[in-house]
Amino acid sequence: MYSSKIIFLEQSKIPSHYYNILADMPLPIAPPLNPATKKPIVPQDLSAIFPMDLIMQEVSSDRFIEIPDEVLDLYRISRPTPLIRASNLEKHLDTPAKIYFKYEGANPTGSHKTNTSYAQAYYNKKAGIKKLVTETGAGQWGSSLAMACKHFGLECEVFMVRVSYNQKPYRKTLMNLFDAEVHASPSNLTNAGRKILEVNTDSPGSLGIAISEAIEKAVQREDTNYSLGSVLNHVLLHQTIIGEEARLQFEIVNEYPDVVIGCVGGGSNFGGIAFPFLRDKLNGTKNGIKFIAVEPASCPTLTEGKFDYDFGDEACMTPLLKMYTLGHKFIPPGIHAGGLRYHGAAPTISHLYNLGVIEARAYNQSEVFDAAKLFAQSEGIIPAPESSHAIKEAIEQAVICREEGKPKTILFNLSGHGLLDLGAYELYLNNKL
Ligand SMILES: *Cc1c(COP(=O)(O)O)cnc(C)c1O
Repeated sequence: MYSSKIIFLEQSKIPSHYYNILADMPLPIAPPLNPATKKPIVPQDLSAIFPMDLIMQEVSSDRFIEIPDEVLDLYRISRPTPLIRASNLEKHLDTPAKIYFKYEGANPTGSHKTNTSYAQAYYNKKAGIKKLVTETGAGQWGSSLAMACKHFGLECEVFMVRVSYNQKPYRKTLMNLFDAEVHASPSNLTNAGRKILEVNTDSPGSLGIAISEAIEKAVQREDTNYSLGSVLNHVLLHQTIIGEEARLQFEIVNEYPDVVIGCVGGGSNFGGIAFPFLRDKLNGTKNGIKFIAVEPASCPTLTEGKFDYDFGDEACMTPLLKMYTLGHKFIPPGIHAGGLRYHGAAPTISHLYNLGVIEARAYNQSEVFDAAKLFAQSEGIIPAPESSHAIKEAIEQAVICREEGKPKTILFNLSGHGLLDLGAYELYLNNKL
């Protein structure tokens, strides 16, 4: 029987709503705390850096939230994204499993981050804001926000983690192309950056430090806000368009995943693909489905971190978030999956992991690159080092299916392409990672 390699969804079928998992949490989630009073934060506490529409999304308990037309228009540049059957990889692994991936890499900046950058730039513009300041790891978030800011006529300033700034120079070029101003972080432009440089002039930087620098800059001007690329509820909310589309695509081929996999840096692409399927597990219509979050062994937030209140940034400027954390001072080694070098994980994902609703695994860099190479050779797409963590786990699951003779359906999120990570692939091929 003929089976499609790519499952397309018509543009007219782009989901009109985001899915808010807070409406379906089995137990209430611990609220963010104001660090000064140790009391739950109120919307006003966040209004110095975020527009009210995003703050209301952050705390909303509505199950579905409508996507504005202006944002849908931008999604139509590259959405719906294809759901692709990794049939060559299946053959190579000789597995009875069906492996599907949702491909988020074919858009102007090459990762899922545009799903939230468009929405965040839109709501800030609507609130009369003139400029956004942000952090970026490997540069996918910075370039996505730069592109969105350009579209809505906002200025954009980006603090890019120094190790990635040096490893991935072309992402800086991409940001500059969209007229964003880019600094390597830690920088001497902020107190937070200068403090780190005083102790170590060669600091590789971390997402936690870059966030501190960006917030410090953003609060200095009334017309300037801060924007975060992951972790927070509203960011994961915007990413649920990935899983909502995937649900419709599985309906077309009359299938449903048994296992859903995503890599986790702050948790946004994993939440984006997993939450719409988790809805079925949480309301009891699908009980057997497994959810697996994958992280680097060198930054093992979920698998080895503590579940506790911690700051989202190095200089303690954010509210305290209840999450799995390696500590806000943790500086991960300079692995090439720059987007996964974060000390914490989204409070929603941390809560679900703590309740045992989702699972987590950690892999080291070389086994992740082995998986990336096998995937590139069989499917012809060069994956981002971050996304390759999800590929590694999908392969592990497919091998278990072979050993047990079980034809399960595996879904993973291919959160981005690796065409601007070829420097890392070059090192891998020369055994110099
Ligand atoms: C940023 C990024 C990640 C990690 O961030 P999450 O918020 O956990 O999704 C993963 N993959 C790619 C391609 C990224 O750009």
